[in-house]
Amino acid sequence: VWNNCLVFINDNIQPQAFKTWFEPIKPVKLTDNALSIQVPSKFFYEWLEEHYVKLLKVALTKELGETAKLVYVIRMENTYGNKEPFTEKIPSSNRGTMGSQEMDVPVKSKNPQLKNPFVIPGIRNIKIESQLNPNYNFDNFLEGDSNRLARSAGMAVANKPGGTSFNPLLVFGGVGLGKTHLAHAIGVEIKDKYPERTVLYISAEKFTQQYIESVKKNTRNDFIHFYQLIDVLIIDDVQFLSGKSGTQDVFFHIFNHLHQNGKQVILTSDKAPVDMQDIEQRLLSRFKWGLSAELQNPDYETRVSILKNKLYRDGVEMPEDIIDYVAKNIKSNIRELEGAVISLIAQSSFNKKEVTLELAQQVVEKFVKNTKREVSIEYIQKVVSDYFEMDVATLQSKTRKRHIVQARQLAMFFAKKLTKASLASIGSQIGKRDHATVLHACKTVDNLAETDKQFRKYIEDLRKKLS
Ligand code: ADP
Ligand code: MG
Repeated sequence: VWNNCLVFINDNIQPQAFKTWFEPIKPVKLTDNALSIQVPSKFFYEWLEEHYVKLLKVALTKELGETAKLVYVIRMENTYGNKEPFTEKIPSSNRGTMGSQEMDVPVKSKNPQLKNPFVIPGIRNIKIESQLNPNYNFDNFLEGDSNRLARSAGMAVANKPGGTSFNPLLVFGGVGLGKTHLAHAIGVEIKDKYPERTVLYISAEKFTQQYIESVKKNTRNDFIHFYQLIDVLIIDDVQFLSGKSGTQDVFFHIFNHLHQNGKQVILTSDKAPVDMQDIEQRLLSRFKWGLSAELQNPDYETRVSILKNKLYRDGVEMPEDIIDYVAKNIKSNIRELEGAVISLIAQSSFNKKEVTLELAQQVVEKFVKNTKREVSIEYIQKVVSDYFEMDVATLQSKTRKRHIVQARQLAMFFAKKLTKASLASIGSQIGKRDHATVLHACKTVDNLAETDKQFRKYIEDLRKKLS
């Protein structure tokens, strides 16, 4: 039956179109006058429905008579975010879209066979595993000054995905400050409020792997079409895309498609857009369309409440002075804060010891030692000023004297190299400059390092002093 249909179709369309849209179709089965055909993607199905539904009907009606039915089977590979490969059957329909209704009119009048079009109201319900972790939700994402903006922007987006000006919502901040947790929380909340929407959480790394694989397998278009079906796309750690121009390019197209169609995009990154390196300008400018919200280091109160909440959820009691000690000594990473507590609980139950302040000190010390200590910008300025025999105030001053400018630029350069601070934050700490000045300083130092021998020595000396 299908072969006869193909012969008829082939006679009626351009060879290229036939090759593209009909050769990949596989007939699956014929039951009750309904022919099932397998198509490679949902996009493929939509294209057929939009452009060739009349032709298909004519062909099929010729073969099977007026009661002929067509059922599409979409096969998706296990590649794009789905745990299991799945198939889905969609009855052919006119989908009620303006486009296909408009198209019906002239064709019908020209083709008497189509008086009885076999329109079956179809439910189109593609299931995409959202890959969300329900343990990361808003209830256990504690609020504090450090995350208030990001948290409430996330809530706003969850209430009206695609319907706020926060599109994309970009959450940025250092390691262990809750980016992944917040990203999941937004997705979980959306799934809760709008179960019918397709939400997908994916790390930029996995996205990149999928993309590379799709290029290898020659399924780049399917990859793109898959992502264009999503209502809420959450991509974690987009800094991973830096330098990966192919993936950036494909993401740019997906992003534009989603954005134009009012779909929500949520991104996380360890840097603010101004500080991202090796990301195409056009992509960066898209990142800035919506809202960039920073997750900052939690203040002491927030650290205490996160600790207490964790202990409460685990049903563990701990003396106040110990909580206080941990919160005072682990400042810039919530994951470490939690890690220290878990390790404390483990040690005390293992040794059947009370959690004492002494034990807490040992554990915290280990934690702080294990994590590479970051030099502070303050310290860098001190070392650089000492080296050039000036005081920090001079280094920060507005003077344009050459050796002072150079010292200032070196301080900025090392602050960028050795800390995780953003350009903007470096600028504000080194004499209230803006991020552009810091960027310029870093470039100048890089250039001088190549051309100026004396300058290269400064850099080497300072590097030794700072490490
Ligand atoms: P990031 O992705 O920024 O590196 P994560 O989202 O993985 O950080 O967070 C690290 C840990 O800290 C997780 O266990 C997370 O649940 C916890 N955490 C972060 N922020 C909060 C918060 N505001 N309230 C409670 N737990 C938090
Ligand atoms: Mg993360």
